Amino acid sequence: MQHMSDVSVIGLGQMGVALTRALLEHGYRVTVWNRTRLKAESLVQAEAVLAESAASAVDASPVVIMCVVDYETADSILETKEVIAALTGRVLVQLSTGSPQQARESEAWARARNVDYLDGAIAATPVQIGKPNSTIFVSGAQTAFQRSESLLRSLAGNVVYLGEQIGTASAVDLAFLSYLFGSMLGFFHGARLLEAEGLHVASLGPMIADTAPAIGGMMKNSADAIARDAYERPESSLKICAEGVELLLRQAQEARINNEFPNLASHLFGKAVAAGYGDEKAAALIKVLRADAH
Ligand code: NDP
Repeated sequence: MQHMSDVSVIGLGQMGVALTRALLEHGYRVTVWNRTRLKAESLVQAEAVLAESAASAVDASPVVIMCVVDYETADSILETKEVIAALTGRVLVQLSTGSPQQARESEAWARARNVDYLDGAIAATPVQIGKPNSTIFVSGAQTAFQRSESLLRSLAGNVVYLGEQIGTASAVDLAFLSYLFGSMLGFFHGARLLEAEGLHVASLGPMIADTAPAIGGMMKNSADAIARDAYERPESSLKICAEGVELLLRQAQEARINNEFPNLASHLFGKAVAAGYGDEKAAALIKVLRADAH
């Protein structure tokens, strides 16, 4: 079957525009659709085709990339008679950020309508799209990956196919985001600490960048310990880390600055010490998280 375009992109927010640009730069014929048509203007100048409706965008290409704010929005666009009819037999690549459960529900929806479904998560900002060191995680049917792989590789140098279990890409992405946001909170608290001590904050950025490889090594060791469930012979024990956290709390109290971040950390490390894990590796804190279910 002859298609008008190679790929259609639905959703032209910051990310959808960046994805479309990368596809155009790689010579793909791209059809786009967005609720606010104005956002397609610069892309149309770059030879993208603006579809009249989401259904005609879907109809234009064998592969449809969805990148809107969330799954609820994606569902509201997909759940019309015309879009469903056009999607049959096509590949739908969901690149909006969602949870593993949302990925499972979307796959079931797609399967029931004979749509080849791939769920992806973009671990990059819009300016990083199309660059060699950017990452996109995908999981889902092998057929869907094979049919969209070359397109996806034009969006990120590092496209990681995580297998057919549909929730994997989202779970890996959320695990990464958990690490990212946790470090952001620590970083912002550290910046506030320096401010309160009358010191320059600007130097904190380069200092963190310089130590990033060493921190990465620590995370690798922690992941290994958790996977083996083995926390003996620590180089720096959980107790030593807990004492460092208590110092953060003490400084916050002495300097009268916001103490919510050290309080949270102190609460979790304190529980781990109280549970008797003080002489183990810091990664033993996972046992506290495993014990707490809400
Ligand atoms: P934007 O806020 O820039 O764009 C949101 C998109 O969703 C627009 O296309 C918007 O359409 C559409 N949208 C929102 N509400 C509705 C609605 N009710 N009906 C129809 N369309 C709607 O977000 P981004 O482009 O940055 O993000 C898109 C996805 O990419 C998100 O899931 C995000 O998590 C993910 N992502 C973004 C990253 C980033 O750094 N920006 C990084 C990694 C992932 P309209 O233009 O009409 O408002």
